[in-house]
Amino acid sequence: IKPTVVIVGRPNVGKSTLFNRLVGRKLALVDDTPGVTRDRREGAAQLFDLDFTIVDTAGFEDADAASLAGRMRAQTDAALGEADVALLVFDARAGVTPLDRHFAQWLRSHDMKVLLVANKAEGRAGEGGVAESYELGLGAPIQISAEHGEGLADLYEALMPVL
Ligand code: GDP
Ligand code: MG
Repeated sequence: IKPTVVIVGRPNVGKSTLFNRLVGRKLALVDDTPGVTRDRREGAAQLFDLDFTIVDTAGFEDADAASLAGRMRAQTDAALGEADVALLVFDARAGVTPLDRHFAQWLRSHDMKVLLVANKAEGRAGEGGVAESYELGLGAPIQISAEHGEGLADLYEALMPVL
């Protein structure tokens, strides 16, 4: 049976773009409007010789601060429960936001393997965000550009030992 990797993170960090990149097809809707992924989507991912099931989770764009934590749990707990590894994606260009911290803290409270992924890291605009992200307590971020297909070898090297 194939292992399962779930992609989590706040809206607009590029989760669906990464999902599509790994599936090799545009199964998930990518949009500049935060939180456009309304459903959880599953696909067959391939990364060099790794085969796994990938799950794209919904955004939380319409959650107010008070209901956010509950909604996050409701929408991703099932996905996390079935997953072998979670990829916590953040936007390296935007830097670490309070919502990213919230996700990191929540994931660290789960007994599961979490890899931190710094997306939009093409060029130099993401360097500050990458440096900031060590504060999340999830180790060194894997720097990628889902849109440009960069950093996939590093993602492979991080995933291979945990799948
Ligand atoms: P999601 O809400 O986390 O699923 O994010 P999306 O995949 O829908 O992407 C949100 C926006 O970020 C879109 O405009 C994407 O084109 C853009 N985006 C995604 N990946 C990258 C990347 O690697 N670099 C840059 N510069 N933009 C990206
Ligand atoms: Mg999405």
